[in-house]
Amino acid sequence: MDARLEAIRDTVLARNPGEGEFHQAVTEVFDSLGPVHDRHPEFLEAAILERLCEPERQIIFRVPWTDDAGRVRINRGFRVEFNSALGPYKGGLRFHPSVYLGIVKFLGFEQIFKNALTGMPIGGGKGGSDFDPRGRSDAEVMRFCQSFMTELYRHIGEYTDVPAGDIGVGGREIGYLFGQYKRITNRYESGVLTGKGISWGGSLVRPEATGYGTVIFTQEMLKTRGASFDGQRVVVSGSGNVAINAIAKAQSLGATVVACSDSSGYIVDEAGIDVGLLRQIKEVERGRLKDYEARRSAVSYVDGGSVWDVNATVALPCATQNELDGDAAARLVRNGLLAIGEGANMPSTRDAVAVFQDARVLFGPGKAANAGGVATSALEMQQNASRDSWSFAHTEQRLTEIMVGIHDRCAATADEYGDPGNYVLGANIGGFVKVADAMLAQGLI
Ligand code: NDP
Repeated sequence: MDARLEAIRDTVLARNPGEGEFHQAVTEVFDSLGPVHDRHPEFLEAAILERLCEPERQIIFRVPWTDDAGRVRINRGFRVEFNSALGPYKGGLRFHPSVYLGIVKFLGFEQIFKNALTGMPIGGGKGGSDFDPRGRSDAEVMRFCQSFMTELYRHIGEYTDVPAGDIGVGGREIGYLFGQYKRITNRYESGVLTGKGISWGGSLVRPEATGYGTVIFTQEMLKTRGASFDGQRVVVSGSGNVAINAIAKAQSLGATVVACSDSSGYIVDEAGIDVGLLRQIKEVERGRLKDYEARRSAVSYVDGGSVWDVNATVALPCATQNELDGDAAARLVRNGLLAIGEGANMPSTRDAVAVFQDARVLFGPGKAANAGGVATSALEMQQNASRDSWSFAHTEQRLTEIMVGIHDRCAATADEYGDPGNYVLGANIGGFVKVADAMLAQGLI
């Protein structure tokens, strides 16, 4: 790392102790930015990096609710409004027991650059809670969401901060959150949340967008080597929103997705995953992946273990941060991996990224490859602002253009900075310069 940037990075780490994921995300971005500061000393003079690493606002709040037995439960809520240089804060809410400030800050920090790469007018933010919706009844989830919004509503708005879903927050949760926002404010403000239901202000393609977008980005990378998804053997991690839609899109392009996982284990289905059955189990029944084995022939379920033991030519990690380490990366490379597209945020550890880059495997980092979700959220905001709703085909076309644009911008930036094919460098520099220019133009704020 450039010595000037290393000194700033060390100060950031010392100011934010115990936030390992945030440290990792900051270090990964700083690793790429030395050459930009050679060309733009004004960024150092204006302390752009120091300002970027300090969120504009961090909100932490108590979320009290009662479970079905009438017992009082307390969770912690977060919203980190990181950077509004390009537009209102935009980024999802995550409900998972592992959520703490360091996770929210890593996700919010990544979101700044991701949103900049989309070319759309959105700043970066993220939020969530350590609440675990798994195993909770609909009524419990509703009471939790209502309590969460009873504090959050005063901080958000269509011109201020626009949350969406993430792990543990899908259409059901967005519905309860929106209902409570409307009730408290007495405003039908569609643009305050994205990921809404189609009949009440949501956008077609938003549920599919992150998974589809990841596959579209990866397809563009494959094209640079004269390949495509057609005929690829694909392994996906996770079996949630991003994973299921990535599987569907990859198979529609001619790939065979042979494995996917949840936090308990993974399935191998050599004939190609039956997406209809997977959706039924995970989205309708809210069941576990293990249930898939009993309902389809020639499927094996592995309890625990790593889905990265299954060999593949394309890997799409779509579960969570740091789920793919250096050993798993080395195994994938040995088994003939050609490309990896990150549907999740920071799923590959720093060691894993180094293994992929050394082996010249095509590597699409999450902040570029999974930007289709937030981009389609911005399309949802456009439709809300114009009181319009677009067709599936039109919205998917816009998503495709945006993902191809992000790919091309990352590739062109990597070329410009002398490291062709390095999408990490391209994404970090491409996103950073856009935000830094806007911050300079807006003065010391
Ligand atoms: P979901 O809650 O729909 O699904 C998450 C999946 O990942 C589940 O299969 C879950 O398994 C698994 N998982 C979650 N946490 C862990 C863990 N600690 N260890 C192992 N497996 C885990 O979330 P999404 O699909 O929405 O999100 C997945 C990833 O994509 C996240 O990194 C998210 O930040 C990122 N992302 C999501 C976007 C979106 O539009 N939804 C946009 C951009 C990025 P189990 O059911 O067992 O918990």
